[in-house]
Amino acid sequence: MSYDPENIFAKILRGDLPCHKVYEDDETFVFLDIMPRSDGHMLVIPKTPARNMLDASPAQLAACLATVQKMSHVALRAFDAQGITLQQFNEDAGGQEVYHLHFHVLPRYEGVSPRPPGQMADQDLLKTHADKMRAALDAG
Ligand code: AMP
Repeated sequence: MSYDPENIFAKILRGDLPCHKVYEDDETFVFLDIMPRSDGHMLVIPKTPARNMLDASPAQLAACLATVQKMSHVALRAFDAQGITLQQFNEDAGGQEVYHLHFHVLPRYEGVSPRPPGQMADQDLLKTHADKMRAALDAG
């Protein structure tokens, strides 16, 4: 199993495809999932190539998890969420569809089930959510 530099998230990282960016640092990049299972559903990815958790380096995993934790706190504030669900899929049998390591961060709300997968979100709504998240980030 090797890394394909033409995967969608590699194109987003290169700026070849648009996304609703929320945050980046030297090692990681965060943007909104276009088919959010909950409001504020983010994807945290390393800036360097890794197909998934199985071939990622400990440094890549550590950097992603640190960003996952940071962005989880931001999402709790920005969306008045009461919990966070973290998801991460590896290989076809594990449910992976895009072959660049990513962690799903889903803000969760008491009594609200995640939406079914595969529902494309309105782009204006995603923009509003990304703006909200960045504002919460800036507010510290
Ligand atoms: P998985 O590999 O199973 O974690 O699924 C890939 C995830 O990436 C799904 O939740 C998709 O909605 C999401 N996705 C696919 N293409 C894009 C894109 N261009 N921008 C943001 N999210 C995407």
